[in-house]
Amino acid sequence: MNHQPPVKEMADWGPKVIDLLDRLGVPFNRTQEGHLDRRRFGGTLYKRTAFAGATTGQQLLYALDEQVRRWEAEGLVRKFEFWEFLGTITDDQGVCRGAVVQDMFSMEIRALPGDAVVMATGGCGLIFGKSTMSMICTGGANSRVYQEGAKYGNGEFLQVHPTAVPGADKLRLMSESARGEGGRVWVPRTPHDSRDPKSIPESERYYFLEERYPTYGNLVPRDIATREIFDVCVKQGLSVETERLCVYLDLTHLPATTHKKLDGILNIYQKFQGVNPRQVPMKIFPAIHYSMGGIWVDYTKDETTGGLEHGAPNNHMTNIPGLYAIGEAEYHYHGANRLGANSLLSTIFEGLITGPSIVNYINSLKSSAADAPTALFDGAVRKHKDAMDDLVGRTGNENAYRLHDELGRTMTENVTVVRYNDKIKETLTKIDEIAERFKRAPLADNGQWTNQNLSFTRALGDMIVLAKVIALGALQRDESRGAHYKPDFQIDGLDPDSGEDLTEQARRWCKQFQANNDKWLKSTIAEHTPEGPKLTYEDVDLSLLSPRPRTYGLKGAEEIMRVWNSEFAKKPVETKKPVAVSA
Ligand SMILES: Cc1cc2nc3c(=O)[nH]c(=O)nc-3n(C[C@H](O)[C@H](O)[C@H](O)COP(=O)(O)OP(=O)(O)OC[C@H]3O[C@@H](n4cnc5c(N)ncnc54)[C@H](O)[C@@H]3O)c2cc1C
Repeated sequence: MNHQPPVKEMADWGPKVIDLLDRLGVPFNRTQEGHLDRRRFGGTLYKRTAFAGATTGQQLLYALDEQVRRWEAEGLVRKFEFWEFLGTITDDQGVCRGAVVQDMFSMEIRALPGDAVVMATGGCGLIFGKSTMSMICTGGANSRVYQEGAKYGNGEFLQVHPTAVPGADKLRLMSESARGEGGRVWVPRTPHDSRDPKSIPESERYYFLEERYPTYGNLVPRDIATREIFDVCVKQGLSVETERLCVYLDLTHLPATTHKKLDGILNIYQKFQGVNPRQVPMKIFPAIHYSMGGIWVDYTKDETTGGLEHGAPNNHMTNIPGLYAIGEAEYHYHGANRLGANSLLSTIFEGLITGPSIVNYINSLKSSAADAPTALFDGAVRKHKDAMDDLVGRTGNENAYRLHDELGRTMTENVTVVRYNDKIKETLTKIDEIAERFKRAPLADNGQWTNQNLSFTRALGDMIVLAKVIALGALQRDESRGAHYKPDFQIDGLDPDSGEDLTEQARRWCKQFQANNDKWLKSTIAEHTPEGPKLTYEDVDLSLLSPRPRTYGLKGAEEIMRVWNSEFAKKPVETKKPVAVSA
């Protein structure tokens, strides 16, 4: 579910990205011989992920922040911290010439002229009310460029992480590293067994992931683990607690040295739950975690390597010339169900590959933003000041925070783990209702200094717009693919007891799978119109590898794969080795 050239390029760069970070000082864990240590993540059978304790992302951030400060000290970087992006500035040719931003201390709105603007504004988890993402991840900035004409791709693909800790304010991730280091997921076989979990004998514990997926065990891909936890809690009624859905994530059997490696997340659990997870199994439940969809971006394929043409100005450029998008904000590198550890690699790779492309784009420009008439920038600032004045002057009896809660609830209930069209339609109606009521939601605080209430309410308006893109994309996609799961459109496994020849059944299954791919192995592309999102579908570049069935837990999987490989699969394309790149 992803154009293959950018994915291949990213995979080729993977080891170089790790080397780069290592040299920048990231404290990666090492083996006793001094090599980089590796651990397994969901969907993998081999240890292939470099890591730094259980806080890899945090450690990368420290190392990269240090580098930014270094360049800043040398006068090559100017930071605008606590300034909020409000929108782009485009000239009469539709070319991006800068951005409008607001100082969230003084509330000053100003234009920043620029020959290129890069959106690196992260995911949109807050549309679902609570998520594991940062509280700033509203998707507001991404929605703003979408409303200005940037295409939005695969909005309906949102990853739900199987293991998070429910919280009143937000959901906190218990990362896959816990299972990568041997953590086991289970529930008591007796519903709501109130005994101390440590006293429940092994024979009375249901290690459902290990039983159902003997090869992958606790490290099945995230969508599968999530659906199984739902199944066990909702359908089988085996939730650990009566009032709350949750299962055990058990690390109590692991040695102290392993606990030490996981201190980063275990301390979070202890801090917020008041229980030591080294001694007592954690209680966890799935939570929205990652936006696979995002702002649509372009690329140029290198026909020799099969990867990307280095320096091509359109690499990671949106359909608005001069506007780029990288990281979780854009729509590449995830398939329909991103694998663990993929995002830190993709965000850093994207920055590295896009930099030279931007330089080449800027060098090709006939005129610079610095030469653009001041009226262009003044007009853009005026537009956003007017919008802010409207918001500050708004009256009515609605409450933005309550509306956000309602939006989050309907999105979480109907557009996450298991999706049914009638329920998604209810959500679309609800989103329209919320959009109407939002017009009557005044600010709780009209102050003109560090007004976060203004920022949140403004972002809520943008979240509502993006929620519609997500829900409509989910409604129209009548199939199951990765994290987008519709039981009504599942292709069932084989039935060995039906009396029909198994190979015939497998052949029929493969034909159905192929027909479904012909129809749906496409990216959803949303374009903003005043009436709502207009959806079209973009073919995916599959020139390097032929897709194959995803058969986790499917009855008759072996026969399906045998028939697929012998009768249906296309041969992979030969490509040359990638040329050397300097990272
Ligand atoms: C708890 C947790 C654990 C994770 N663990 C892993 C892992 O182990 N491995 C892995 O590969 N991935 C992991 N991920 C995913 C990965 O961390 C993210 O996908 C990645 O950090 C995204 O990086 P980014 O730079 O694209 O966006 P972000 O890191 O989200 O940064 C976006 C930035 O944009 C800013 N911003 C947003 N809106 C505006 C606006 N309107 N104006 C100005 N600025 C704005 C934000 O303040 C933020 O600084 C994890 C994610 C979470 C939440």
